[in-house]
Amino acid sequence: MTCVRHLLVCLGDQLDPDSALLRQGDASQDQLWMAEVDEESTHVWSHKARIVLFLSAMRHFRDEREADGWRVQYRCLDQHTASGLDAALTEDIARLTPERVRVLQPGDYRVLQRLRSACDQAGVPLDVVDDEHFFDTPAGFNAWAEGRKQLRLEYYYRALRKRFAVLMDGDQPLGGQWNFDKDNRRDFGSSGPGRIPAPRAFPPDPTTRDVIALVEHRFADHPGTLDDFDWPVTPGDAGQALEDFVNHRLAAFGPYQDALWANQPWLYHSRLSAAMNLKLLSPRAAVAAAERAYAEGLAPLQSVEGFIRQILGWREYVRGIYWRSMPDYLQGNALDAQAPLPTFFWTGDTDMRCLADAIGQTLRYGYAHHIQRLMVTGLYMLLYGVHPDAVHRWYLAVYVDAVEWVEAPNTIGMSQFADDGTMASKPYCATGKYIRRMSNHCADCRFDPERRTGEAACPFTTLYWDFLQRNRERLQAVGRMSMQLRNLDRLDATELTAIRRQAQAHRDAVSG
Ligand SMILES: Cc1cc2nc3c(=O)[nH]c(=O)nc-3n(C[C@H](O)[C@H](O)[C@H](O)COP(=O)(O)OP(=O)(O)OC[C@H]3O[C@@H](n4cnc5c(N)ncnc54)[C@H](O)[C@@H]3O)c2cc1C
Ligand code: SF4
Repeated sequence: MTCVRHLLVCLGDQLDPDSALLRQGDASQDQLWMAEVDEESTHVWSHKARIVLFLSAMRHFRDEREADGWRVQYRCLDQHTASGLDAALTEDIARLTPERVRVLQPGDYRVLQRLRSACDQAGVPLDVVDDEHFFDTPAGFNAWAEGRKQLRLEYYYRALRKRFAVLMDGDQPLGGQWNFDKDNRRDFGSSGPGRIPAPRAFPPDPTTRDVIALVEHRFADHPGTLDDFDWPVTPGDAGQALEDFVNHRLAAFGPYQDALWANQPWLYHSRLSAAMNLKLLSPRAAVAAAERAYAEGLAPLQSVEGFIRQILGWREYVRGIYWRSMPDYLQGNALDAQAPLPTFFWTGDTDMRCLADAIGQTLRYGYAHHIQRLMVTGLYMLLYGVHPDAVHRWYLAVYVDAVEWVEAPNTIGMSQFADDGTMASKPYCATGKYIRRMSNHCADCRFDPERRTGEAACPFTTLYWDFLQRNRERLQAVGRMSMQLRNLDRLDATELTAIRRQAQAHRDAVSG
């Protein structure tokens, strides 16, 4: 029997070769444990690209650690029958009899419970090690949150800027202001975005090609395609992706971060979320690279601050919200939304051009940028009244960067207002006119964002007025909604009835 001191569990989103777990371990006494299990791909109906990304990055990590001298107990998906992490770990604890099991804080509450239950049953202690990948810890977030009535991103972000001396001039923000949001809402105008440097691509190597073959066979009925798979799967790839972004797209990231354009999936976005969430790339490296670009005159402050706000601000903040609010957070349904998800979300087959574009590229690449997620797919589901759990399961399934700690607050909180305002001070609700302002979609669409009823009415506009009617009482308590509710009150009873009928007809048409 092999003698193992500590079994070090490395999950698929913990692939940092320099993690605290590995640094505290000893390759002569401890062994790494990694498992590919069906349940992680099927507990939500995962996009094929999401499955390939995780499995390929895990296999690369295994090979690199073995080359470093670690012994890795690795279960390939097609070489064992345990369907969940807990069952696989239970078998290996019995076989290897470690003194302790150690794991970095998982990114998913469910996974932590599974590991706890396997170790409890086996009578082996489980140590949960703080994940130093992040700037802050869940305890640090709780300390900041203590005694505050509202947990607004802006104040947390400012506290982290000061604490980590990021973009600071003494105790003042560099450039004299904390944010440049009002300069960062530009659209591309009628001439469009022009030529944007294509992001660096990482074509599949032999390891990734093996995984692609496995996934095409084993998860053949899962959503998405793999023809365009080119995501970074190693820390080396991720470093190159960061460098490429900073050199070629960061400068214009800020002004155009909210803009949309048909058939342009990346625009000036970084495509770094998946690499960061799998821990192939450190957020500290991303923030430092952006600061350096500003210091060297490669990018203006409005873009550098805009990018850093996403990582040091939003990314840390949503993690804090998640661990502070779980497990109840997933049950949130403040607006009592009950509708099932329309089936076209799995096919992109709709004549609403903005949704066809966002869902189509999601199925092709496993990617959509933030405004597509928040103000196209998310907005539609909010206005339609899809049950937040169905919304959550869709977002967790279809994006390559989806891990629950980051996906759930963005979906349940920011996008669906199902957490009753813990994250957002008001629902992100708007008519189709918002999409027309920020994109070129409406010009080619058979609907008209100005119209709320009639044959040509834009479903977003119809559903927006229906949403306000349905939620009038609940939204009364949300101060920042008062202007929108006053506009609702200007509509007469005939118009309100016509909107309700039109919204119902739309639901009937798309719910099949
Ligand atoms: C409904 C919904 C679901 C989402 N689900 C996820 C998810 O599962 N995983 C995920 O990483 N992000 C999620 N986001 C946040 C955001 O949309 C993605 O991080 C971003 O689109 C990834 O693309 P990018 O790397 O090109 O980002 P960029 O636009 O280039 O932004 C830079 C980085 O900032 C971080 N970031 C930006 N916005 C956010 C945010 N709101 N919360 C946390 N980090 C942020 C990401 O790490 C990102 O890589 C979601 C947003 C919404 C509205
Ligand atoms: S008209 Fe409405 S449905 Fe069509 S693209 Fe514009 S917002 Fe989307």
